[in-house]
Amino acid sequence: MRLKEKVAIITGGAGGIGRETALLFAAEGAKVIVVDVNEEEGMETVDLLAAAGGAGQFVRADVSNASDCKNMVSRAEEEFGRLDILFNNAGIMHPKDDDAVNTEEDVWDLTMRVNLKGVYLGCKYGVPALRRAGGGIIVNTASFVALLGAATPQLAYTASKGGVLALTRELAVVHARENIRVNALCPGPLRTELLMKFLDTEEKKQRRLVHVPMGRFGEAKEMAQAALYLCSEESSFVTGTSFNVDGGITAAYVTPE
Ligand code: NAD
Repeated sequence: MRLKEKVAIITGGAGGIGRETALLFAAEGAKVIVVDVNEEEGMETVDLLAAAGGAGQFVRADVSNASDCKNMVSRAEEEFGRLDILFNNAGIMHPKDDDAVNTEEDVWDLTMRVNLKGVYLGCKYGVPALRRAGGGIIVNTASFVALLGAATPQLAYTASKGGVLALTRELAVVHARENIRVNALCPGPLRTELLMKFLDTEEKKQRRLVHVPMGRFGEAKEMAQAALYLCSEESSFVTGTSFNVDGGITAAYVTPE
């Protein structure tokens, strides 16, 4: 087991990457605090994890809310005695996110609050708990759009993920001597609810796939495996990186037919 006795907080744990990571981390021996605004599906993640013999608790928290973030960290320490891993993974892709002209301020503000401020707040309360545990690991979910401009615009989302990368680098440098590693996971386009709701026609899906050398959407399970690597001892000298798990999209200039 690669995470035996480790205690992990996973935000956005009700679905997609977060749920798959919670199940994988629990199978690898971690005790998992599953965090989400979606209580029903968050509890379902904990039920699935328990049915497979794992240990977990659901905590409802909106990652853009400071007292919720404080509470999720306290709950990890109360329930399981410590915090070793913080996976800041919750995120939104607003259906009205567009180019600069057409994106309304409320869409911009909400996206920044959840996707960027949520990571900062997770760290604000998570870092002291990691210090109390003698060190630990933070993984922040960014995206390939933090590295590439997309012709189908989602300006607020893209900017928020660029912010996550910048924030990750600085956190990694600041906390390196405290035995805290911080990395960003940059998924390519995935077949999760988040993107499939945005690319809501076959034509839009195919337009995105044209750019992926591997010619398919990634799976949440594949991101969970990447997160496991970043949270295990196997990545003990890895910090401050943007870990691209993207079917080759960021390597391509022109993709093969
Ligand atoms: P998803 O929609 O399946 O999961 C996101 C989860 O975050 C949901 O369970 C949702 O309820 C939760 N959430 C939303 N707002 C929240 C809040 N304020 N507080 C707490 N929880 C909240 O999507 P996913 O694809 O698993 O996305 C996970 C992460 O991966 C996101 O940060 C997303 O931006 C990123 N990402 C996704 C893709 C993709 O193609 N799906 C690509 C790159 C990056």
